[in-house]
Amino acid sequence: MEDWKVILHNSISTADQLADQDYIFTQPDSIRDVCKKYPMRINQYYLNLIKEHGSPLLLQAVPDIKELKDHVCLDDPLAEERLSKTANLVHKYPDRVLFLVSSRCAMYCRYCTRKRMVGTKQMQITPETISRGIEYIQDTPAVREVLLSGGDPLLLEDEELDSILSRLHRIEHVEVIRIGTKVPCTLPMRITPKLVNILKKYHPLYINTHFNHPAELTDEARKACNLLADGGIPLGCQTVLLRNINDDAQTLKALFLGLLKMRVKPYYLFQCDLTRGTNHFRTSTRSGISIMRQLIGTISGMAIPTYALDAPHGKGKIPLTPQYIRNFGKELEFDNYLGELCLYPEELDY
Ligand SMILES: *Cc1c(COP(=O)(O)O)cnc(C)c1O
Ligand code: SF4
Repeated sequence: MEDWKVILHNSISTADQLADQDYIFTQPDSIRDVCKKYPMRINQYYLNLIKEHGSPLLLQAVPDIKELKDHVCLDDPLAEERLSKTANLVHKYPDRVLFLVSSRCAMYCRYCTRKRMVGTKQMQITPETISRGIEYIQDTPAVREVLLSGGDPLLLEDEELDSILSRLHRIEHVEVIRIGTKVPCTLPMRITPKLVNILKKYHPLYINTHFNHPAELTDEARKACNLLADGGIPLGCQTVLLRNINDDAQTLKALFLGLLKMRVKPYYLFQCDLTRGTNHFRTSTRSGISIMRQLIGTISGMAIPTYALDAPHGKGKIPLTPQYIRNFGKELEFDNYLGELCLYPEELDY
């Protein structure tokens, strides 16, 4: 078995296994309750990072009873199910589709937008759903770009991934393939030379990875990103703004500058979605805007992502910049967003 499979196989996925880790203090009963609804997976690589760095990483991975006490947020805030054209394929923007090809991840992030289904039986991905998705793309010439996500596409077997990529690459109007994956952060040893040799065949292929904290920028992660970048794959990062994890300018500055040094361009900083079970992670947009104001002009523009919010009910991604809010704020009914998500133009002077 390859290294990454062994590490994954030895993951912690039950309350009892977690209770055996004497450096993680939890109440097994509440963990057990949470795991019935939202699965846990903490692999040995990320577990060691938690051991070393504590709370900002622990909060991302270890279940919290607050997940079951969220009565504010929505199961499917981005209305992905309503916007699905065929199972697991969301065609929301004119020229690109989001294609979910894997239901599993190397770790189950507690703040996941697709928490309602990722890692559970709710998410049914089969060779048939994949073939139907590919047929839809084939039959829809407006689709210029295919964004593979899940779950994590890089948890597929090499051969499965190769087959999906080759079928997409063959479609003439598909100009670009993009993969969203968290494995460079949570299981960097999954990025093997063999995998890179497969990915390289399908250029132009982009990868957006997902790091949230500078402690995740380890030697292993650097090695994984180097392999991908040396394979000619441009790398971006989608970070989520998370309360008590990375919601301060110093932490994000270290993260974005560290990513840039690893040849990863910070792409988006997302306001945490209104996903049920994640309300305790959400910051106010005011705090995100204040952080952006502290970073812009201070560090290289190359290290600055777009701060954006994926609006509830499938209204799409909205860059949280002063100009955009001033021009479109009324139309987007910002005032109607829940609680502290409310935004007012005068808060946006950055
Ligand atoms: C985020 C997203 C995309 C990609 O949007 P970009 O702004 O191009 O990164 C495409 N489709 C869906 C449904 C999305 O949520
Ligand atoms: S890796 Fe992505 S899809 Fe998987 S649990 Fe984390 S946020 Fe969700």
